[in-house]
Amino acid sequence: MSEKEFTDRYEALGIPYPDPKTMCDGQCEGTGWVPIASDDMEEPFRTLWLEAEKKTPTNDGYHIVKCPDCNGTGKQTDLEEKEKDAK
Ligand SMILES: [Zn+2]
Repeated sequence: MSEKEFTDRYEALGIPYPDPKTMCDGQCEGTGWVPIASDDMEEPFRTLWLEAEKKTPTNDGYHIVKCPDCNGTGKQTDLEEKEKDAK
């Protein structure tokens, strides 16, 4: 199995660093995209990986999929709800 390091996703993706106040707190860390390894088999990532694999089989075992929490925006989608929940 090949290994990839994601030391700085923002630089790798060529996007600005996200605002920590509004950035998605899901797996994407504000990028909107989540790298998933073939052995990363926790839901919902397993399903997303399998879907990506159906469309474009991977050579290295990784798929970059849209973050299921923010739907690829990299931002929190439910800021107001989160504030309510925090109380
Ligand atoms: Zn996200």
